[in-house]
Amino acid sequence: DTFGGDNSGDLNPRQTPGVLYSKALPTPVEKPELLAWSDDLAKELGVQKPTDQKDIDILGGNAVTDTMRPYAACYAGHQFGNWAGQLGDGRAITLGEWEAPNGQSWELQLKGAGPTPYSRRADGRAVLRSSVREYLMSEAMHYLGIPTTRALSLVSTGDPVLRDMFYNGNAAYEPGAIVMRVAPSLLRFGNFELLAARKELENLKKLTDWTIARYYPHIQGEGDERILAWFKEIVDKTAALMVEWLRVGFVHGVMNTDNMSILGLTIDYGPYSFVDNYDLNFTPNTTDLPGRRYAFGKQPSIAYWNLSRLAMAIAPLLQGTEELVKIHAGFDDAFTKQYMEMMGNKLGLDQVKAEDVALFAQLEKMLATVQPDMTIFYQLLIDLPLEAETEAEMAAHFEPSLYNKLSKEESQQLSEVIKAYQERIKANTCSREESQKKMRQANPRFILRNYLLSQAIEQLEQGNNDLFEKLQEAIKEPYSNKYEEFFAKRPEWATNKAGCSMLSCSS
Ligand code: AMP
Ligand code: MG
Ligand code: MG
Repeated sequence: DTFGGDNSGDLNPRQTPGVLYSKALPTPVEKPELLAWSDDLAKELGVQKPTDQKDIDILGGNAVTDTMRPYAACYAGHQFGNWAGQLGDGRAITLGEWEAPNGQSWELQLKGAGPTPYSRRADGRAVLRSSVREYLMSEAMHYLGIPTTRALSLVSTGDPVLRDMFYNGNAAYEPGAIVMRVAPSLLRFGNFELLAARKELENLKKLTDWTIARYYPHIQGEGDERILAWFKEIVDKTAALMVEWLRVGFVHGVMNTDNMSILGLTIDYGPYSFVDNYDLNFTPNTTDLPGRRYAFGKQPSIAYWNLSRLAMAIAPLLQGTEELVKIHAGFDDAFTKQYMEMMGNKLGLDQVKAEDVALFAQLEKMLATVQPDMTIFYQLLIDLPLEAETEAEMAAHFEPSLYNKLSKEESQQLSEVIKAYQERIKANTCSREESQKKMRQANPRFILRNYLLSQAIEQLEQGNNDLFEKLQEAIKEPYSNKYEEFFAKRPEWATNKAGCSMLSCSS
């Protein structure tokens, strides 16, 4: 209650000037049933798996305990590069904060729990398809070791939800669902942009102070110094996150500033995808065509642009902005440094030397041209024989990762890079085993491919949860070879099928 909230409980869509959140009770659903539960996260939080309906009712929004203070946050944002004005939690309702046994405090939020003042013209609901995607992928990212919001539960609501976008080719009713999303904080760049745009400088200052004190408590100093130190950490964390996305081939798909976490977490799982073939121009979001603003390879530069929106938002709190501009520009160095280190690990180098940068560039150029399956290519690289091989032998080694037959030039390009790579590995001061171990830790063998998700969802909708359960296990060990049945290229049939490669924002 540090901030003025709107406590009217009015759920009608509207502008809410002067407040940072509005009280919003979840709207009950027909029949909440527990479909999935994250045991590991529950353990961390110190909560037990619900066994009776009373507890499941909470996860479905049908019950609110008297210690909860449900609210929807008000924020704004730049969507696809344009100022979108007030947005806010349109279908997400935070129930409150929970302190885990280790002292860490977590925001618990139901996504799909019904309308809030920020629902605009939409229904406040989420469909099973998108909820399964959020549930599985946020947990998968966690096990990959990537900063992310988490998901504790997935509940089906028993209510049909109408989605007028294309899914299997038709407008249709789909089963509804609710995910409990969990994070230390779900604050976004957009929370700060909103207050700056409304010129609510008192609230902006309060929110900034509170965010630093609560989530960046190690930051000392006062005035400009304190705010600048905070912004620098956000720049570094955001750069680190982009490097991690590139490491595993993750494409977020909707990097609007309202989907940028103030803690550098991956947040808001919508039309995301891993890349299968290494295509820097790949965007999984049909709404992102034809511009491809949020394509795989553009993510670092978009993060940089988004950080500039955050910088503009906090600028009014500062005496001068010269330092702010410098720190923002520092993204480039922070990103590059972490990126090189990451590539060194992916390739199993003992250390990254200045000359290695040329090898990375050569490799990336080849990957972007040949477009092998990214995940499989790096797995094959781990077991590459080090004796020089003929061009044909090298092509044969990487054949399982190829989507297309190599042209003469591509085959040459591949073998040149691999030769250079073999030489570099031989120059390692560490053993081959050590180098390979490093590679196994940096290169996932299992990734949650879109076509697998699509198959699991289709089966779930027909009452079969076999694949869904299997994927729930596989995401926990992405670096192991325990799930070889999923170690395969995207099949031909999935290439252009809706939901398998590209998705809409409709969810
Ligand atoms: P997104 O593209 O998922 O980041 O969503 C952009 C904005 O639209 C956010 O403020 C969401 O809360 C809101 N939104 C998305 N889907 C719905 C929905 N079904 N009902 C109400 N608001 C929604
Ligand atoms: Mg969002
Ligand atoms: Mg969303």
